[in-house]
Amino acid sequence: MKELKNLSVETLCVQGGYQPKNGEPRILPIFQSTTYKYDDADEVAALFDLEKDGHMYSRISNPTVNAFEEKIAQMEGGVGALATSSGQSATLLAILTICKAGEHIVAMNNLYGGTYTLIGSTLEKFGIKTTFVHLNNEEELRGAIQDNTKLVFSETIGNPGVDVLDIEKISAIAHEYGIPLIVDNTFATPYLCRPFDFGADIVTHSTTKFLDGHATSVGGVIVDSGKFNWENGKFSCLTDKDPNYHGLSYTDTFKEQAYITKARVVFIRDLGTTMSPFNAFLTNLGVETLALRMEKHSTNSLEVAKFLKDHPKVDWIKYPLLEGDSNYELAKKYVPKGGSGIIAFGVKGGIEETKKWINNLKLTTLVVHVGDIRTHALHPASMTHRQLSEEAQIEAGILPNMVRLSVGIENVKEIIEDLNQAFEG
Ligand SMILES: *Cc1c(COP(=O)(O)O)cnc(C)c1O
Repeated sequence: MKELKNLSVETLCVQGGYQPKNGEPRILPIFQSTTYKYDDADEVAALFDLEKDGHMYSRISNPTVNAFEEKIAQMEGGVGALATSSGQSATLLAILTICKAGEHIVAMNNLYGGTYTLIGSTLEKFGIKTTFVHLNNEEELRGAIQDNTKLVFSETIGNPGVDVLDIEKISAIAHEYGIPLIVDNTFATPYLCRPFDFGADIVTHSTTKFLDGHATSVGGVIVDSGKFNWENGKFSCLTDKDPNYHGLSYTDTFKEQAYITKARVVFIRDLGTTMSPFNAFLTNLGVETLALRMEKHSTNSLEVAKFLKDHPKVDWIKYPLLEGDSNYELAKKYVPKGGSGIIAFGVKGGIEETKKWINNLKLTTLVVHVGDIRTHALHPASMTHRQLSEEAQIEAGILPNMVRLSVGIENVKEIIEDLNQAFEG
């Protein structure tokens, strides 16, 4: 077989990660074990000192979870991955690995509501400050970066406004200042976009969405490109000796895997936001059909977007690969295979007309979720983004009449019929 890393994403969805040896189960087994048996005390001591590879306790690593991590790292083209208990904890750990109290982050302001409050409010209480800037705005970004800024954070396709990040441009600017770009790739998935190919340094996912794809498991993952130069004088957290591990330096010992190793052996060890083996099994099973699903989500969404664009009761609509969309050119560059499954649009009228339309839906259900096989709708202003002030909502593009539509893989004619009857109802 070819080296796995040279295979296409479609093949890696199916064949990546778990590689059974002769006589072993063909399907990834669930290793439902907290602990691992050893014959020799020195061997366990060596594990504790990070001198030897191996599992010691499932808070830190587990074979089922590791197989899933490997598959995602291969699909994203990275050197390593760390699965977490949720997308939120993936974001948290991705940041904490290189940023501490007294330091600073720059983030694009069109983020998922939970990320916005995590970065803008909770991390602030831990002494990490954030400046939010408008998506892709070079001048604002340059103006916001300070001496103590450690990273730039953004989403490939924003949740819920579906604006597309100019990864090449923003990563180049971040690199000028010697800091990495972290990209939340939840909406695109590595099937539609691999941010590392365009200069991003770290990728995060809420695996809860398209990667699982069936709405069974909350989870997250961080992937390390292995390409960022941590030895540029700005990241003593990775280059300096860590007294907790007898003075080892992550960059000296783990080279291109310095970042992802520290995320595991310090932050998931200490904070314990671990993905369970069972959730890793289910999410891995979901990923096996990711390529098929993303194609169908994308073609269905484009048809639905065209229908909505022409509907007299639709005020405005955004879908990255819809011709004429403000993101169209960026989308053709970054997600040419498909625009993913999320459409943002406004119902003519205001908040009441919008809620009424949602209440009239039959096949499409109201759930607080995106990116699974079923079509569903949500009202961000009163739900996912309700913690933001009205001003911050408008700044982030959350209009009162906005609907976030997650288009499933059902028959597209029947999806459109349902959306249409809700306007008439
Ligand atoms: C859902 C989501 C998150 C948070 O993930 P959880 O798994 O719900 O913790 C982060 N980023 C994006 C883009 C999301 O859609």
